[in-house]
Amino acid sequence: MNEHFLKKTLSKLNIGGLRYFDSIGSTNDEALAWATEDARDLSIVIADEQTQGRGRLNRKWFTPKGSALAFSLILRPAAPLRPHLSRTVGLAALSIAESCRALGLAPRIKWPNDVLLNGKKAAGILTETVWSGDSVDSVVVGMGINVHSASVPPQERLQFPATSLEDELGKDIPSRDEILYNILNSFIHWRARMGTDELIKAWEESLAFRGEQVQVKAGGEDQVTGQLLGLESDGSLRLRDANDKSITVRFGDVSLRPAA
Ligand code: ADP
Repeated sequence: MNEHFLKKTLSKLNIGGLRYFDSIGSTNDEALAWATEDARDLSIVIADEQTQGRGRLNRKWFTPKGSALAFSLILRPAAPLRPHLSRTVGLAALSIAESCRALGLAPRIKWPNDVLLNGKKAAGILTETVWSGDSVDSVVVGMGINVHSASVPPQERLQFPATSLEDELGKDIPSRDEILYNILNSFIHWRARMGTDELIKAWEESLAFRGEQVQVKAGGEDQVTGQLLGLESDGSLRLRDANDKSITVRFGDVSLRPAA
């Protein structure tokens, strides 16, 4: 992966700008800094390696050299998209899922922010917002995709099993540039439809554990168990508990697991 090839590959897409790094702490940190400067909408920070890659709550995201895709998009949402910003994580997950599907895989979105292949985590998303007073100035969407086997963290560092595109396809896979192109293409397609029911439907159809019993752990000890029904229009998760009561789980630091 190098800047010259990336620029060439992405030239067909209307991106705002590109910053490439052989190695960086975190692409989201760089994107957040760029967002407070002059970054244009759909600018991208991408790195071959992250030394301080972050998941939610500063959990570590592993991005070893030469093996993964790690990039952050800077979005400067236009007024009509602002009411739908809670859908951003779904938009990103759907874009990754569609690019996996194009490779013949069967991705599932583990709500809210992971993409599973064969029940194992192959990609994660971290969205962060830059505020200007009470209004959103920009949204940074970080995506980490395990492309080659070497990107999968050692088992002892994981709370949820992980895999890579290469592990699942078991054959030659497209270059990371090409996979990035497909993800961005899909992202741009769906962003133009961000306020539509079509987006929620496509996101919902890709959800992992649909119709199954799941546990959702919120921060602290709070935990709900129920059947995963689908999504609300803002992207919140809909469950039905044992008393047939409908429960809405909003975003936040929640972790979803199949119920034991
Ligand atoms: P979760 O959605 O599972 O609650 P996060 O979205 O916060 O977790 O992601 C961070 C977690 O993901 C880490 O604690 C680690 O267990 C796991 N992880 C880190 N790097 C990778 C990777 N490259 N592939 C799969 N899982 C990873």
